[in-house]
Amino acid sequence: MDLFVKPYFCKIHFIWIFAALTLLTACKDKQTDYSMDYTIEMDTVRHYLNVQLTYTAGADAPDEVVLVMPRWAPGYYEMLDFAKHLTDFKAQDSQDSILTWYKEGMNRWRIKLSADKCAEVSYRIYANQRNVASSRVERDIAFVAPNGVFMYVDGEQDHAVTVRFRLPDGWQHIATGMRPHADDSSAFTAPDFDVLYDSPLLIGNFYTHKFTHEGHDYEIALETPDGAEDMDFEGQFRRIVSAATRLMGDVPYDNYCLIHMGAGGGGLEHLNSQACYTDGTYRFPSRKAEVKFLAFVAHEYFHLYNVKCIRPAELWPLDYDHEAITPMLWVSEGLTCYYEYRLLRDAGIITEEEGLELLSTYFALYAPYEGQRHQSLRQSSYDIWLNFMNSDDNARDVRINYYFKGPIIGLLMDIDIRRKTADQRSLDDVMRLLYNRFYKEYRRGFTEEEFWSVCKEVAGEPLTDIRRLVETTDSIDYAFWLKGEGLEIDTAEWVIRSSESIVNTQTQP
Ligand SMILES: [Zn+2]
Repeated sequence: MDLFVKPYFCKIHFIWIFAALTLLTACKDKQTDYSMDYTIEMDTVRHYLNVQLTYTAGADAPDEVVLVMPRWAPGYYEMLDFAKHLTDFKAQDSQDSILTWYKEGMNRWRIKLSADKCAEVSYRIYANQRNVASSRVERDIAFVAPNGVFMYVDGEQDHAVTVRFRLPDGWQHIATGMRPHADDSSAFTAPDFDVLYDSPLLIGNFYTHKFTHEGHDYEIALETPDGAEDMDFEGQFRRIVSAATRLMGDVPYDNYCLIHMGAGGGGLEHLNSQACYTDGTYRFPSRKAEVKFLAFVAHEYFHLYNVKCIRPAELWPLDYDHEAITPMLWVSEGLTCYYEYRLLRDAGIITEEEGLELLSTYFALYAPYEGQRHQSLRQSSYDIWLNFMNSDDNARDVRINYYFKGPIIGLLMDIDIRRKTADQRSLDDVMRLLYNRFYKEYRRGFTEEEFWSVCKEVAGEPLTDIRRLVETTDSIDYAFWLKGEGLEIDTAEWVIRSSESIVNTQTQP
């Protein structure tokens, strides 16, 4: 199908589009002013996304417009400065006259508009990185990470935006969390740029499977599907979803999309999707490797609650121009690591023994860090913008990783709350209360003091010891915490075992 927005588009249809958008969005003042329609083509040989933006504003609109490219992507706490991949920026009006523009700073383009208040903007994005926060265009597939492709009008990221993809011949699918237009499966309208930026797309030829589970629509899109059916990816994911739904008591989306790509590193959570690089196959060399992969899937999925809904105040609303510095990422990331174990165990996917083995990996990863005597968990969250990909030789000596200490604290919080409430309440109650109060009721993030206040409310008394372990470099008395939970830890191997199973093993002939 031909979805290309031709150059004369804004000359002929401007009035009708503007009138329609005015009617459709009359309830939002900002959206009565202009429309933004993007068309994207893929240069599969040179690895570019060719972007065309049709900006059309009313006669009363300002004489200039400033377009802004985000500097970072939520969930990836590093300034990636996507503008560095941009080239060949051009702007012209509806009469094909060149518009004057100026670059302001690293990621802003100020365009002087003609009387028609229309701008046809075009630029190219180099897309050749195997990174979950960056785009990639190849011969028969493209991964579009929207933060590095689409610009918003300065100060107005809450504006609606339409995106159309012109697919190369033979390209068949688009997988994303956004719903396509009813009459055009290659076009999407996002209510604002937050939604667009949090909806990556896998486009081209790949394995895709759609299904419904407990009233919601799902799509599994796999670039390299080898072995996925044999390991029952769909069935395992259904069980993870059901376990999370039982835990949280709510499902905050209509549809959810799993985008799993070929060999590479990392995964990134999104509004109603996850985008991950994998080992390039679902034939795992061991059960342990399979559990590790399923924990990865569960991690990204649980983020949809813990960080997309349950958010530190600094992460909502989003500011794509500045670092979102918060001392609470250990909650967003560390507790999500703890819930990998909980979801897989509660889903019946792994045994308790496998769960303890999974948890043990975090203890073993954390233990060798000399940095635990120099940096607190809270500080590691606060300083992540300095350290996300900072691999200084002394890193392990002076810093810690909240992915490792965070799940340990998650386990201890769970134990502490259960002890304080005679097993009547747990960390789950904290997560549910944060979700229902701050996300559903207040529609905002929580402050650090509000987080500890919720913990106190659930436990009936402050989590003084836990907070000390979060905010200081005090060592953790594992024996104290695990004693009475039927757990023992071998601090030589950093393996947690059920005391009962140790006894049983020891009494076997
Ligand atoms: Zn994460």
